[in-house]
Amino acid sequence: MSKKHGKHLPGHSQDGSVTDGPDRHQAARARAPSTAVWAGAADAIAGTVPAALGSHRQIPILAAPGIVAVEPGTRIDLSAVDADADGGLDKLWAKDALGQERERISALQERLYAERARSLLLVFQAIDTGGKDGTIRAVLKGVNPQGCTVSSFKVPSSDELDHDFLWRYHAKTPGRGMIGVFNRSHYEDVLVVRVKGLVPDAVWQGRYRLINDFERLLTESGTVVIKFFLHISKDEQKKRLEARIADPEKHWKFDPADLVERKSWDAYQQAFSDALSQCSSPHAPWLVVPANHKWFRNYVIARTIADTLEAMDPRFPKAAKGIADLKVPD
Ligand code: AMP
Ligand code: MG
Repeated sequence: MSKKHGKHLPGHSQDGSVTDGPDRHQAARARAPSTAVWAGAADAIAGTVPAALGSHRQIPILAAPGIVAVEPGTRIDLSAVDADADGGLDKLWAKDALGQERERISALQERLYAERARSLLLVFQAIDTGGKDGTIRAVLKGVNPQGCTVSSFKVPSSDELDHDFLWRYHAKTPGRGMIGVFNRSHYEDVLVVRVKGLVPDAVWQGRYRLINDFERLLTESGTVVIKFFLHISKDEQKKRLEARIADPEKHWKFDPADLVERKSWDAYQQAFSDALSQCSSPHAPWLVVPANHKWFRNYVIARTIADTLEAMDPRFPKAAKGIADLKVPD
């Protein structure tokens, strides 16, 4: 472990071996006390965490059948993805299977938390009424609340606007052992911001690259990022808005602004298509989920999370030597 961190020191190669002699290394260390102190601090914690910050193995994002993963470097045309698709699954079967996927997520979350080395970030984006809240409720029911944080991003405050656009999102990314959920995300800054013309074109256009760099920083630091776009049709949005108007118990969910935003449906679809095409990277691909059928959406998302957590293979930390022989005093 200490060798691993040695690569941050001048004079060391990627694998931790000294490249230009120990004397040179000593001299460099003397000239750069801050680097040496940082490396020393990392060494100090290396014994207590299974894997400290640094380069992490890339984890495959295992999308469930029926989800359309956007291949990095290609364009996705959302109008060509059927929002009504249900993978030919039976609704009752899928509801039962969702329960099983939730149990898998819960068991794997316990390991992730105990391992305390890596984290999982789930990003949810959709048009209004697309089902972000319902998905989060249905899929994450059963996870230990202590190991999970949900962040919902609204119109930025003036303090948030006084910083770079990623500042408020970075502050909410999950720490080691945690699952973090983004209900809306840094993508709003190339979606609503673009559609409403809140910044000049050149500004939002430059953000795709910054978002890709940000997600690379996260993944290389041990955060696995899964990005779900909940894809509903325009007809389905109409039905959902009408249901919110018709049912007094759903009035609290109805936002008259959604009717105004609906007029920009095509502009939003264009903005989503561009964001998904520009920011589907090998380290953090975009997954398009047909979401007209809530039961299908919930099942495939839960399965994707469970399968990806399984690929992460979080392990309980090794117990201290001799622990099984300890006796608890009376
Ligand atoms: P809701 O999620 O329905 O409670 O609404 C939150 C509102 O905040 C939506 O209308 C979003 O478009 C808006 N919003 C979220 N992030 C941003 C952002 N970065 N800039 C402007 N508006 C945003
Ligand atoms: Mg809303």
